Amino acid sequence: MKTVIIGNGPAGFYTATKLAALAPDEEITLIERESEPFYAKIRMPEYVADKIPREKLYLGTAESLSRLGIRLVQGAEITSIDPGAREVISAKGKWAYDRLVLATGSRAFVPPVGGSGAADILTLRTLADADALRERCKAGSKVLVMGGGLLGLEAAWCLHDRGAEVTVAEYFPRLLPRQLNEDQARLVQTALEGAGLAFKLGRTVAAVEKLEGSYRAELDNGEILEVAAVLASAGVRPVTEVARSAGIVVEKGIVVNERFETSVPGIYALGDCAEMEGKLFGLWMAAMAQAEGLAKILSGAADRFVNRVYEPVLKVPGIDMKSLMGS
Ligand SMILES: Cc1cc2nc3c(=O)[nH]c(=O)nc-3n(C[C@H](O)[C@H](O)[C@H](O)COP(=O)(O)OP(=O)(O)OC[C@H]3O[C@@H](n4cnc5c(N)ncnc54)[C@H](O)[C@@H]3O)c2cc1C
Repeated sequence: MKTVIIGNGPAGFYTATKLAALAPDEEITLIERESEPFYAKIRMPEYVADKIPREKLYLGTAESLSRLGIRLVQGAEITSIDPGAREVISAKGKWAYDRLVLATGSRAFVPPVGGSGAADILTLRTLADADALRERCKAGSKVLVMGGGLLGLEAAWCLHDRGAEVTVAEYFPRLLPRQLNEDQARLVQTALEGAGLAFKLGRTVAAVEKLEGSYRAELDNGEILEVAAVLASAGVRPVTEVARSAGIVVEKGIVVNERFETSVPGIYALGDCAEMEGKLFGLWMAAMAQAEGLAKILSGAADRFVNRVYEPVLKVPGIDMKSLMGS
């Protein structure tokens, strides 16, 4: 059987490697638009903070996959799927499949912002993003982070660790609004302010104007901040366009059942791009567990997959979400 997997994040990578182990005769092709080997997105904040070198992020190369009999195609963006012909198509070529796995992940959401500098707002989703952030946010520079959720605070912390002067603007009147109540959030805010971060709560960024070598960010109350960079960390959105244009049912994400089957026979989806039981997961551990589950289903070793509940973790030293949420 020919299994083609789109996306070399944890969902795609681990589906490929687990399936290769369970079904050695399977012909597996893993197609990825980026040209980097499989890397640990979850450790990128440490790379931005200069805590680990770039090479430490790499988790799997084309050679390690080829030893498992998996063919990795890099730098190829799949632009369409032809479910009738059972083919996926990119500018680099076409690949035929018996079974297709969509592991296209998610992209950073940038809230709508006006101004001549809006297009320069940075995100932290790919390794190229991390490189750009390191380039633009040097020690001593002022940076504005849009978003006081888990990823926003983690990004703010790594830039602070890098030596930048960081201000976080959060739309809600408290930090971590999805996880914490007011009292709990105040404890986090006080700890982070003590470490040197500044917060603008209940505020959005209205406009970002480009200046000579910097940006002028205007908040919705008219307050002005002059910064070297603006980073948006305001959530992610599943990447579903290719699935949608192939006629696959997409709601919040690509809708799948407990066997990861989409609405089109022979096409499966998992990880950040998939919606299961009405939920999006957006977590590395969930993508890994789903990959193992899908590999078992594709190899006939299991019938269905049951999702676990995952605890939120904030990777900022000294802040323990578990004990906070119990307080
Ligand atoms: C900075 C950061 C910190 C994080 N920290 C944590 C954490 O602490 N804990 C946690 O659980 N999660 C964390 N996450 C989230 C975690 O990384 C994601 O949940 C996980 O990467 C999802 O895996 P995935 O394989 O579904 O998608 P992705 O990792 O997004 O991979 C999808 C891949 O598909 C490729 N692709 C998409 N469309 C196409 C196409 N048309 N053709 C070819 N290739 C395509 C993309 O280039 C990408 O490589 C973090 C994420 C970031 C960015």
